[in-house]
Amino acid sequence: MYSDVTENYKRVRFNVEEAAAKYRNPGETVRLMAVTKTVPYEVVNKVIGLGADLLGENRVQEYLEKKDNYQDAEVHFIGHLQTNKVKYIIDSVKLIHSVDSIRLAEEINRLAAQKNIVMNVLAEVNIGGEESKSGVSPDRLEELAYGIAELENIKLCGLMTIPPPGNSEAYFAKMQELFHELGSKKIYNISMDILSMGMSADYVEAIKYGSNIVRIGSGIFGARK
Ligand SMILES: *Cc1c(COP(=O)(O)O)cnc(C)c1O
Repeated sequence: MYSDVTENYKRVRFNVEEAAAKYRNPGETVRLMAVTKTVPYEVVNKVIGLGADLLGENRVQEYLEKKDNYQDAEVHFIGHLQTNKVKYIIDSVKLIHSVDSIRLAEEINRLAAQKNIVMNVLAEVNIGGEESKSGVSPDRLEELAYGIAELENIKLCGLMTIPPPGNSEAYFAKMQELFHELGSKKIYNISMDILSMGMSADYVEAIKYGSNIVRIGSGIFGARK
């Protein structure tokens, strides 16, 4: 296991750069996130050594067990987050991609206020309207955005999605539209800078539709058990 990580990482890196050059304006950057769930810290450190500077964490407990062993990299939280777990991650992650309710936003805001920081977050959108998935539905996104805008210690910086399996491209196009729509409203205290979408199977398509963070797990580390 993990014998192909170096090769995989370099290939994904190349593909991301190639897609960015093909589909995006010069100067627009697309960040490559290495998604670390189930991967031992030694292997994560190997890709950091190859130049990976952004890690995505899904599981609070697993992250807490590994984080002190990671070499230097920026960490984002991308998994479903329970309100009672926010306290464990708020000090060490730079961006939370998975805010999908005002209740969660309020808890992040409360803890951030105690620490005198402003926590950056993305709103996770359930773009396929799937019952089994977390995320705010597209027709309630604006309400959530206005709600977050009123909180002083949390800042909404963009959107994240995990589309239904299959035809990602149509969903990415919808997300791009939502992203621009919400951005054009110029809501006080929010900015639409980050569009986090695209995983191992569909990151090239995501880049085509404006993604600027692609989240890659199995494409770098191999299939998870
Ligand atoms: C696991 C995961 C990924 C990466 O998925 P792969 O298909 O392995 O690239 C990306 N985003 C989130 C939120 C995930 O949970």
